[in-house]
Amino acid sequence: MAHRITLIPGDGIGPEVAEATVRVVDATGVAVDWERVDAGEKALAQTGELLPESVYQSLARTHVGLKGPTATPIGGGHKSINVTLRKKLDLYTNFRPVRMLPGLKTRFQGVPIDMIIFRENTEDLYSGLEHEVVAGVVESLKIITRIASIRIAQATFQYVRREGRKKVTAVHKANIMKMSDGLFLKCCREIAADFPEIKYEELIVDNACMQLVMRPETFDVLLLPNLYGDIVSDLAAGLVGGLGIVPGANLGEHDAVFEAVHGTAPDIAGKGKANPTALMQSAALMLAHLGERDAAQRLQRAIEGVYAEGKHLTADQGGTATTSDFTAAIIDRMR
Ligand code: NAD
Repeated sequence: MAHRITLIPGDGIGPEVAEATVRVVDATGVAVDWERVDAGEKALAQTGELLPESVYQSLARTHVGLKGPTATPIGGGHKSINVTLRKKLDLYTNFRPVRMLPGLKTRFQGVPIDMIIFRENTEDLYSGLEHEVVAGVVESLKIITRIASIRIAQATFQYVRREGRKKVTAVHKANIMKMSDGLFLKCCREIAADFPEIKYEELIVDNACMQLVMRPETFDVLLLPNLYGDIVSDLAAGLVGGLGIVPGANLGEHDAVFEAVHGTAPDIAGKGKANPTALMQSAALMLAHLGERDAAQRLQRAIEGVYAEGKHLTADQGGTATTSDFTAAIIDRMR
């Protein structure tokens, strides 16, 4: 039976990378029934809403989404689509594997970078609770709860045990935010005690950023509250070729939405220059999530093969291939 998947192409380069990704997923031979729904600027123009009810209705049927980047207009009272979707579906784990693809020409070429970032996805400074106390003084609430900290720590350690990884590094600023980050750390320590075979360490976020640049190969699995997770994810993406490369997944108990980390790239939209690798690698994670491990591996190996060969790379990776050339090269490799 075909897998039903909600496809949200998104804005800017979103439709280009989404169509490229649909082509490679279909080429794996896995039967997929794609339900296309709009969110973002296109949806706003058509329905008056950035995130129309049709998106939730589709996800309620499929429980799995593949999402291209969407534009959130700055100001004007619009809430971020990603933040809203994550909160509404309770997609509490943000999962981002950061790996060096073979042949990639980055400053860190040859460094065996292979880390997984687990970012809490529902609270912290993303609570959206901001107000002006008196004129000229604004307060933004950083919410950390035991319930959310425990479940992200559990998701992390369970993954590490299941996948045979070795070490978890919890990242915090509890020396300053003693109560909020202090609670996050306390929860991480509690769960770490249940997994004695897994090495557990803690790093203050500023030091973690420096270590990530100086010794990225020493990191295995990182566990972070929402805001540090957001910042450290982009830093880590920069080590392995940038935002066009790294995949992501938002996981809850019942639903999962797979998406690239990058935005809508308005500077290159519609020019055939977008690199679809990030969404394609997200789709490989999605196939594994659906139990299609063989197809996931074939897609991942084809992506790595195209990078190792280095003949069909997009402009952001120093090549001259269009989105479509790159996609065709992946499909050729899977045949
Ligand atoms: P961006 O990620 O869109 O672009 C940053 C730079 O990276 C640009 O130079 C762009 O050309 C390049 N880039 C990004 N993805 C690329 C790809 N796949 N291939 C080649 N080059 C790529 O970030 P931004 O400019 O800060 O944001 C633009 C818009 O995207 C904003 O409206 C923002 O709200 C939105 N955004 C959405 C998401 C999401 O939906 N997940 C994430 C971040 C930003």
